Parts: sequence; C-alpha cells; structure tokens
Amino acid sequence: MIGVSVLGATGSIGTSTLDVLALNQDKFNVIALTANHNIDKLYDQCISFNPKFAVVVDATAAEKLRAKLADKGSKTQVLSGVENLDYVASLDETDYVVAAIVGAAGLSSSLAAARAGKRILLANKETLVMSGQIFMDEVAKNNAVLLPVDSEHNAIYQCLQSFNGSTGLTNEVRKIYLTASGGPFRKTDLKLLESVTPEQACAHPNWSMGRKISVDSATMMNKGLELIEACWLFAAKVDDVQIAIHPQSIIHSMTEFIDGSIMAQLGQPDMRTPIAYALAWPERIESGVQSLDLFTMSNLEFEKPDYDRFPCLKLAEDAMRDGGIMPAALNAANEIAVQAFLDTEISFMSIASVVESTLQQIENKPANSIETIVQADIEARALASEVVKSIATNFAGTKNYV
Ligand code: NAD
Ligand code: MG
Repeated sequence: MIGVSVLGATGSIGTSTLDVLALNQDKFNVIALTANHNIDKLYDQCISFNPKFAVVVDATAAEKLRAKLADKGSKTQVLSGVENLDYVASLDETDYVVAAIVGAAGLSSSLAAARAGKRILLANKETLVMSGQIFMDEVAKNNAVLLPVDSEHNAIYQCLQSFNGSTGLTNEVRKIYLTASGGPFRKTDLKLLESVTPEQACAHPNWSMGRKISVDSATMMNKGLELIEACWLFAAKVDDVQIAIHPQSIIHSMTEFIDGSIMAQLGQPDMRTPIAYALAWPERIESGVQSLDLFTMSNLEFEKPDYDRFPCLKLAEDAMRDGGIMPAALNAANEIAVQAFLDTEISFMSIASVVESTLQQIENKPANSIETIVQADIEARALASEVVKSIATNFAGTKNYV
C-alpha cells in the first residue's frame, strides 16, 4: 500500500483527490489530511478515510475537531499549527504528498516534501512561481519525484512522456502550447469589466475550482502563473511557451516537435484525470471521469490572448523575464489584490493595477534563498495592501455593480 498525505484536503483539488483515492482503496492508504479551518468537512473525511493524522492550522478549530473525533471513537491524531503541515509531508509513512493548499501558504510544505524525497503531486503552482529554482534543485538533490497536477502541465507532461519518456524540453521540441479557457469574461464588453462582481468572476464556464484560482482564471493571472510554472517544470523559456485561448477546455495543452507533429492531451475538464495520472504514473488507474463524447463536440477554437483585456498575463510574463524575486512579489501582490476584490474593496480591473504598482516599487534581487523569497513575499504584501487602501477609498464611493 502506498501512503498518501493530502495537504489542503478540504479544497477543490483535495476533495477530487479523495474521490480518486476512494475508487482505489486497494492501492492507497491515507496517512494525513490537512485543512486551514473547515473542520466539518475534515471531520467527514477523517471518518471516511481514517487517516493517522489530521492537521488543522487553526488551534481552536483543531481542539474542536479533536473532541468531535474522540467522541466518535476515531483514532486519528489531530495536530495544529503550520509546522505540522511540514511534519506530515515528511513522515516516513507518507510516500506521496498531494500539495493542494492554495497560495503562498503551500510553499513550506511543498519544500518539506521535496527535501524528504517524496513523490509530490503538485497542484500548488505558487510553490514554483515563488521559488522555482530552489524547489527544482531540492527535488533533484533529494530524488523526489515531481508530477504536475495542474491540468495543462499534466497534459504537457503526458505529451513529453509519450515521446521518449522525457520530462523536459529537448532539441526535438519546438514549442509548448499552454491552453487557457479565457474564463468567464473572454467576450464581456471591456467597459463592463470594471463593475463585475466576485460571484460573476467565480462562475467559471468549464471548471469548478476554489475562489482564488477562479478569480485568477477570470483575470488570466492564472495563465501567467502557469506560464512561470511551465518554465520551471519543463526547463523552458518564456518564448518556448505559446498561450492559446481554447474556450472549450477539451484540449488541456500540447507540445509541438521539430518534425511538425503536435501532441495533445484531451479529456473532460475534470481534475480527477490529472490527479489519477499523477497518483498512478507510470501506470493508469480509474478516476471516475466519464468518457469524452467526441460526437457532441462541434468545434475546437483557438485564439491569441489579448493583453488589453488581460493585463495580468503581461505582468506575469514580464516578472518571469525579470526573474529574481519578481515572480514571488507578483504572486504576493496578486493574492492581496484578489482577496480585496473578493471582499468587494476594489474593482475587478484594479487587481492588475494593484499588482503593477506593487511591482514598480520592488527592487529586484536574486532569489537565492528561501529567506529572501519569504522577505519579498512579505514586502510585496505590505506594498499591495497600501495600494489597495488607496484604491478602496475611491471604489467605496463609486461601487456600482452590474
Ligand atoms: P481551495 O480554496 O478549494 O482549497 C484550498 C485548500 O487549502 C483548503 O483545503 C484549505 O483548507 C487549505 N488552505 C487554505 N489556506 C491555507 C493556509 N493558510 N494554510 C493551510 N491550508 C490552507 O483551492 P483549490 O482550488 O483546491 O486550489 C488548490 C491549489 O491547486 C491552488 O494552488 C490552485 O492554484 C491549484 N489548482 C487548482 C485547480 C482546481 O481545479 N481547483 C486546478 C489546478 C491547480
Ligand atoms: Mg491549470
């Protein structure tokens, strides 16, 4: 039996992972489940999967869960505090770590899994955005196995593997096509984008996801973060990656080879497919995902992205070209801006303005240690919060949602 710890078990990816694990109980044993504070969901998951550990970051919530599980006679040990995320990621019994915490909060435990030489099923793209070089070095140094869960990167990985088992760009690869749905506002009148609500931004046309990544998909910052993620995962340069808006979300990404062949991975827009691939690799297991009915698909469209509509995409590309601490600062400023938008403090289009003016105030330096990266994250959050404050005062007076 393979021991799996799911970090961020109560989220969208965490829940999909547990669905796949439930279908494959003869192969996998759940060692640890973690959550920020949603103990009701974590309680149900603990009863179903009987993990050795449950980690709840919030101490008060952890105490409540402990009492509730004890009442039920459960043997699951409840731990609290962020340091225990790293602990369960490094346990001997943990063979695979599903890194499915959202945002910079997932960095430390992803790194702990790399340092402990685990198989890492990486959904937390922020780890690579913030600390790409350091994380990839730790993976290599400790013989960890890194498998991308992000659907596009999982698709690219599958295309590269089908070629000669390689996991990175070689001279035979001409280009990576990173597909994007374009989110809910691909066709919305630009003038109306100023006044869209968080609910409209979170209503993704094809994928059901957590709120932060849903807003990132609407601004296309998600694709910007994924571009950075792809560069680190596949040793690619920004110019090796072509972003292609593909509204149907049927092709999950492609690789083009020097002979003109393009390999694509297709499937339902359902994260259980890439999760099952990463759990079973190099084999295949059931994921619970239905077949894609080719006969109901009328057409597959592709468009180049529009930077006026999606300024976050350009900001992310520039941050990657600049290198150093800029991607970490971009990520931090974006997390602050997205939260402010979700809290209706700033408008949708102000997300990009907050990120841009934060980055203008950051002095770049090499990202040569985790301390430097964490410091950049803290500095960018503080600067972005100031920008949010200055914009929020104006926004409160004019807030006029459509
Ligand atoms: P989500 O908001 O649904 O779930 C987040 C999980 O992280 C929850 O279990 C929550 O308890 C935990 N968490 C949140 N803040 C935390 C903190 N400060 N400390 C510890 N735990 C914390 O998010 P999601 O949509 O499942 O996304 C998770 C990650 O996967 C993100 O990095 C996202 O970019 C990536 N991803 C998601 C999808 C998707 O379809 N949802 C697809 C590709 C990549
Ligand atoms: Mg993705």
